[in-house]
Amino acid sequence: MMCLNFAKRLRMLQPEPVSIQKLTHALLEEKGVELAVLRLDQVHPLVSGNKFFKLKYNLEEAKRLKKNTILTFGGAFSNHIYATASAAHFAGFRSIGIIRGEYADSENPTLAHAQKLGMQLYFVDRESYRQQSSAEFLEDLKAQFGDFYLIPEGGTNDLAIQGTKEILGDQALDFTHFCVSIGTGGTFAGLASVLKSHQKLLGFSSLKGEFIHQEIGKLLESNQIVPKGSFEIKTTYHFGGYGKFKSELIDFVFWFYGEFNIPLDPIYTGKMAFGAWDLIGKDHFPTNSKILLIHTGGLQGNAGFKSKTGIILPIL
Ligand SMILES: *Cc1c(COP(=O)(O)O)cnc(C)c1O
Repeated sequence: MMCLNFAKRLRMLQPEPVSIQKLTHALLEEKGVELAVLRLDQVHPLVSGNKFFKLKYNLEEAKRLKKNTILTFGGAFSNHIYATASAAHFAGFRSIGIIRGEYADSENPTLAHAQKLGMQLYFVDRESYRQQSSAEFLEDLKAQFGDFYLIPEGGTNDLAIQGTKEILGDQALDFTHFCVSIGTGGTFAGLASVLKSHQKLLGFSSLKGEFIHQEIGKLLESNQIVPKGSFEIKTTYHFGGYGKFKSELIDFVFWFYGEFNIPLDPIYTGKMAFGAWDLIGKDHFPTNSKILLIHTGGLQGNAGFKSKTGIILPIL
């Protein structure tokens, strides 16, 4: 398999052009705001959304360090696992996924795809999984798998944040507000770093809890990011917590697709879009605001959602 040279494999990781889709709706007219969606879900068929940007410099670094294996961590339906397996495959790395949960179903659509692209999966109990960053656990992994380039759970590290700084191009200058989903906050931190003074970033946490304020604070500090614009983190749109949902959210995902022809996922982008739409209705945005929702991808998860709940969400 090493016959395809690295440069060629890396070229297969070239980003596709990403569109900004303008939305029209009576509510937007009534409130005097403009709303559009940055379709990062289109950036690559298998390395979708923000994960493309988070992986980009990590793979380059792994290559520079002459590593031939990427090792990372994730849940059984993780977008990060799916994207890392795909990106590693295209860039010619061996990949290892340490999966949370001893009894995770290796046949689920996410893990089946990862394995198909050559990722070796290892299932660990939740207790061990929590120790993923301990030196001892990493030593054990090295003893078992040999040398590897480590990408943490969710893919957030300094190089990932470096990559997410490139999500907004020149076309973003037109907008006054950006809305993005938050998991670990790596994407939020990168976006915060490129804000202009008149721009505001709103993050919608998919996890329950106020800890995320501190988490983001740490990420900004350790990456020496002092945003020129303002930012705000919303913690009231998690629908019960990470991976949890309510019928109101699912109804919204179907409604949004019917209205705008844009598929969302129930873990991240659905919660963000729900929150943004709710805030528009509540006059959170001043008249003449130009709001850009950042579609961070994650649609592969809709297949897993079906296997867990039986609910068939729209996927394009
Ligand atoms: C991983 C992911 C996020 C969260 O990104 P962070 O950088 O961890 O905050 C948001 N949306 C989607 C679709 C994702 O897959």
